[in-house]
Amino acid sequence: MAEHESLEFGKADFVLLDTVSMEEFMANLKLRFEKGRIYSYIGEVVVSVNPYRAMNIYGRDTIEQYKGRELYERPPHLFAIADAAYKAMKRRNKDTCIVISGESGAGKTEASKYIMQYIAAITNPNQRAEVERVKNMLLKSNCVLEAFGNAKTNRNDNSSRFGKYMDINFDFKGDPIGGHINNYLLEKSRVIFQQEGERSFHSFYQVNVYLHLCHFHSSICLVTSINDNADFKAVADAMKVIGFTGDEIQTVYKILATILHLGNLTFGVDGDVTLIENTKQVSVIRDLLSTKEENVEKALLYRTVATGRDVIEKQHTTQEASYGRDALAKAMYERLFCWIVGRINDIIEVKNYDARIHGKNTVIGVLDIYGFEIFQNNSFEQFCINYCNEKLQQLFIQLVLKQEQEEYQREGIPWKHIDYFNNQIIVDLVEQQHKGIFSILDEACMNVGKVTDEVFLQGLDVKLAKHAHFSSRKSLEFDRDFRIRHYAGDVAYSVVGFIDKNKDTLFQDFKRLLYNSSNPVLKGMWPEGKLRITEVTKRPLTAATLFKNSMILLVENLASKEPYYVRCIKPNDVKSPLLFEHERCRHQVEYLGLLENVRVRRAGFAYRQTYPRFLQRYKMISEFTWPNHDLPSDKEAVKKLLQGCRFDHDVAYGKTKVFIRTPRTLFSLEEQRAEM
Ligand code: ATP
Ligand code: MG
Repeated sequence: MAEHESLEFGKADFVLLDTVSMEEFMANLKLRFEKGRIYSYIGEVVVSVNPYRAMNIYGRDTIEQYKGRELYERPPHLFAIADAAYKAMKRRNKDTCIVISGESGAGKTEASKYIMQYIAAITNPNQRAEVERVKNMLLKSNCVLEAFGNAKTNRNDNSSRFGKYMDINFDFKGDPIGGHINNYLLEKSRVIFQQEGERSFHSFYQVNVYLHLCHFHSSICLVTSINDNADFKAVADAMKVIGFTGDEIQTVYKILATILHLGNLTFGVDGDVTLIENTKQVSVIRDLLSTKEENVEKALLYRTVATGRDVIEKQHTTQEASYGRDALAKAMYERLFCWIVGRINDIIEVKNYDARIHGKNTVIGVLDIYGFEIFQNNSFEQFCINYCNEKLQQLFIQLVLKQEQEEYQREGIPWKHIDYFNNQIIVDLVEQQHKGIFSILDEACMNVGKVTDEVFLQGLDVKLAKHAHFSSRKSLEFDRDFRIRHYAGDVAYSVVGFIDKNKDTLFQDFKRLLYNSSNPVLKGMWPEGKLRITEVTKRPLTAATLFKNSMILLVENLASKEPYYVRCIKPNDVKSPLLFEHERCRHQVEYLGLLENVRVRRAGFAYRQTYPRFLQRYKMISEFTWPNHDLPSDKEAVKKLLQGCRFDHDVAYGKTKVFIRTPRTLFSLEEQRAEM
C-alpha cells in the first residue's frame, strides 16, 4: 500500500478507507481527482479518473520510478500495474492480461497506449535492433488503427468504434518479439450515416485534406481537438514504418476515395429502367478501382440471381440500388479495416522463434474495447457494444468477486458473504441459445417470406415479455422499441435496421467487381469474388452470431491468463478538467461494482500459497523448518514458521493454503529470505 503518499491526497488505496460506504468512497475519489491524483487502487485494481488535461506523469523519469518496483511502493499509476503484469509474466512464466474497462470517453484507449509505452520503455536493455524494430511497429500500429477505427462521437472526440485485443509476445529474456491483434466488430454503418454532431472515421477527413476534397464533408469537418492534416502525415509515416508497400498505401487511399464518391451517387428512372444520374462519378470510381466502367454500372444496377438452374440478371429498383451502394461502401470499408489489421499481424507476428531452444514464449494481452454507451438513437451496434461490456463485467465478477469468495469458502476460511449484483442474467438474456435476443434475431432473419424488423420485435415480445431486464414498448409507455436494463443503466433500442445489419448481405456482383480489379491489392481483399452465384453459401453466419462467438472466445482467452484490471471513470460529460460531477461518478462506481470490490478485498488476503510451496520458498528463515521439519504436516510447519516471525496475526490457515492479509508481511518474509 502506497503509504508514503501524504494523506492530503486522500487514501491511495480504497481498501484503507476508515469505513466502506459510498459516501467515503466518493469523497476520497473526488479529493484525489481535485488534487490531481487521477489513479488509485483497490488492491491490485487501478481506478482511473479521466483528467481531461495533459498530465506530466508519463515521462522517462516517472517510468524509472516504477521500473521493477512492487505495486505498493509508489503512488498508484498505470505503470505500476503494467510492471506487475510484466513481472508476473517474467517471474512465473505466466501469460497475463490487462483488461481496461469503463464507458465511452473514460480513458481506456489512452490508458492502453501508456501501458504499451511503458512496456516498450522498460524492455530491451541491450538495445537489440530486432527488438527495437518490433517495439516500434507495435507502437505505430496504434496510430494506424485509430485513424481507421476511431471517430468523433457525441461522447468522445476519439471514440474507438471497434474492439481491440492485442497480444505482445516476449522471449525468455522478457523482450518483445512480436504481437498479434484481434479486432472486433467495427461500427461500419458510420461510413454512410452519422448522428448529428458526429463524424465518420478519421481516415476520411485525413484523406480529404490530402486530396483537397473538402466538398465531401460539410460543417463538422473541423474539430478543434483533431488535426486531420498532421494526422494524415503521421498515419502515412506509420504505415511506411510498419512495412506497408507504396502500392498498398495508394490502394488504401483509393478505397477511401471510392467510398466518398459512392456517397455522391444517385439513382433515377427512365420509363422502367433504373439508371445512375451522375455518370461522371462512375468513371472516377472505375479509375479508382482499376476496373471497367460498364462493370461498375452493371454491379450497381443489376443483381445476378440463381433461380433453380437458371441464372438471370435482375434490375434493381432505385431503392434497391441505393441499398446496394450503401452496402458496398460499408463492406469495402470494413474489409479494408480487417485487411489493415491482417497486414499488421503478418508483419508483427513472431517469426523464427523456437521454444525448444529459446524457452517458452509468454504473452501480455491488452484489451481496449468500446465502452458502454447510450445515444439518442441506439441501434444494433450499440446493442452489440453494450452486450460486450456485459460480458466483460461478468468476467470481472467471476474473477475478482466470485472466485475470491469461493476460494475462501473452499479453504474453510471464516468469511462473511458479500452481496453483489451478478449480471449473468443479462448476458443470458442476450446470448442464450434459442431463448436469447440474438437467437430471436437470427430466427427472424431466417423467416421465409416476411422478414422485417417488426417480426423481430414481435418475437421479442412473445418470448421475453416476463423477463426482468427486458421491456417492450407494448408493456411500457416509452417512445422506443425495446429496452434492456443493463448493469450500467437502461438503454432503449430502436429495432429499425436490426435485420439488415444482422444479415449483412453484400450482393455477389459487387464482390466479383472488386475481385476482377486489375489492382492486385484490391483483388486480394476479395477472394470470394471468384465464386459464381451458384456456388455462394445461402446462409452465412449472421453478424450477431459472429460477434457472439468472438466475444465468447475473447472471454475464454482472458480467463486463461492472469488478469490485471484498470477501471476507468469519466468525471463529466463536457470534457472539463475541473468538473467532478458527483452523481455521474457515483453511478459509475456503483455499476462497476467498485464498492463490492473494496469489501471483498478488505475481507480478503493479498497473497496465498499452498503449504508445500510456501515452505519451499521460506523454510530457510526458521530453525524449525530448515533444512527439514519434523512436524506432523506442512501446515503445522508453516504455522510454526509464521508464529516465530510474529506474523501470526496477519495470516489465516486454510485447508491447503496459507493466506496472508497484507503485502507488507510478504515483503518482510522476502527480506528475511534475502538476508539468509
Ligand atoms: P471509447 O469507449 O469511446 O473509445 P475511451 O475510454 O477509449 O472511449 P479515450 O479515447 O481513451 O476514451 O479518452 C477520451 C479523451 O479523454 C482523450 O482523447 C483525451 O482527451 C482524454 N484523456 C483520457 N485519458 C487521459 C489521460 N490519462 N491524460 C489526459 N487526457 C486523457
Ligand atoms: Mg477508446
